[in-house]
Amino acid sequence: MNDIGVHDPRTGRIERRLTPPSRDELARIAADARAAQPAWEARGPRGRATALRALADALDKHADTLLDALVRDTGRAYESRMEAGQVAAMARRWADAAEPLLTTAPRPSSVLPGITLETAPRAYPLVGVITPWNFPLLLGLIDAIPALAAGCAVVVKPSEVTPRFIAPLRRVIAEVPDIAKVLAVVEGGAPTGAALVGLVDLVCFTGSVPTGRIVGAAAQRRFIPAFLELGGKDPAIVLPGADLDRAGSALLWGACANAGQSCLSIERIYVHASVHDELVGLLTAKAEQVNLAYPEPSDGAIGPLIDPDQAAVIAAQLADARAKGAVVATGGRIERHGGGHWIRPTVLTAVDHTMTVMREETFGPLMPVMPFGTEDEAVALANDSDYGLSGAVFGPDPAAARAVARRLDVGAVSINDAALTALVHEGEKHSFRYSGLGGSRMGDASLRRFVRSQTLIDNSTTGRDPWWNTP
Ligand code: NAD
Repeated sequence: MNDIGVHDPRTGRIERRLTPPSRDELARIAADARAAQPAWEARGPRGRATALRALADALDKHADTLLDALVRDTGRAYESRMEAGQVAAMARRWADAAEPLLTTAPRPSSVLPGITLETAPRAYPLVGVITPWNFPLLLGLIDAIPALAAGCAVVVKPSEVTPRFIAPLRRVIAEVPDIAKVLAVVEGGAPTGAALVGLVDLVCFTGSVPTGRIVGAAAQRRFIPAFLELGGKDPAIVLPGADLDRAGSALLWGACANAGQSCLSIERIYVHASVHDELVGLLTAKAEQVNLAYPEPSDGAIGPLIDPDQAAVIAAQLADARAKGAVVATGGRIERHGGGHWIRPTVLTAVDHTMTVMREETFGPLMPVMPFGTEDEAVALANDSDYGLSGAVFGPDPAAARAVARRLDVGAVSINDAALTALVHEGEKHSFRYSGLGGSRMGDASLRRFVRSQTLIDNSTTGRDPWWNTP
């Protein structure tokens, strides 16, 4: 497959090229992983846990090298440290969690006396994982690790936009020979991803809605499960009586971490009209204290736009909003520094749902704020979306916030905080609407996505003939 140029997000220059594997090479990588899978599954959860703990140790040992590559991939430092720290913890968590989830015991039938049933998990042999560029390492492993814990072999195809972390990750994997047999990471773009879907027994896709549709349809044609984790337009609701200072800080983090390049970014803020101006004032003041991570990646909190194409999307949404009457309280323009594209935390007011900034995924640090009158109105506005990934509610007390949260058509809601699903992975959640399809990536259910249930129905002990001969 064709060479692909890789941009440096801080300079805008193509600073290396990646060469995807040929179709034959990819098929060989998939076949090798598939061939090693039965022995991996036969080790059982305890044996696999030992290997996963060794992988966690290797990730820790090489955290600095991984971090360095992630900073070059994404141009930002703070979130890269978060990613590098989270993956080893994730491997240890699944090493501990898998055994009880996969252990089974026989049970008597309640229908036919004397018959026992035993349901056991059988792993999907080969899982394909296709991921985006916004959290390259974390999203590369967030499905791969529970799939390994479940007994699958895995081939990961990260985004072609951020491939620098792949070489150090491969070195980490090579240090754990048991894992190296069943976990491969391949470089490449859309053609490699599409080819991978044709080689695996189950696909986990994280990315945009349009690509998700293509991957979902390809998986459907092959009769294999596809777990789709797609875009978002997460709403936040601020009820009267909420702690506005706290809400302002949480919203700034929730909307602007990773420069807003996160599926679960807060992208719409609905605030009770009585506190609208105060919240806008606080948000604006807080936003203006946040600096760009420039000239050095550790100089500030807001990194560059990782994919330069995203700058045009954000600029178009801002132009559309302005043309329809939105007011920029702070930020509001794409800046060029050192060849990269940057945008400061941006607060917009006088917005409404005719504007693309309130309807389409932005993937930038924009905080459009809209007032509401009643709780019903706030819920209706929050639910007026094609997406349903997650959201946030701030209230005068937890009960009031939780009551509103339960009415939102999204998979997880942070209460008196924002974007907690980025940090807390143990809560089961589904994606609503176009935000995705399939079982929960979070919580224990994540691992269950990777096994099929097989039941043995045992009539050995009753001593009777097959039942149709029984009087
Ligand atoms: P994208 O859809 O352009 O690409 C994602 C991946 O799919 C890449 O690896 C790409 O090479 C591959 N790909 C492209 N075409 C393909 C095809 N035809 N067949 C198979 N694979 C193909 O997404 P992106 O721009 O890299 O990422 C941004 C998007 O990801 C945003 O919409 C964001 O919301 C979403 N995202 C979702 C989550 C989540 O958990 N829901 C998390 C992070 C990002």
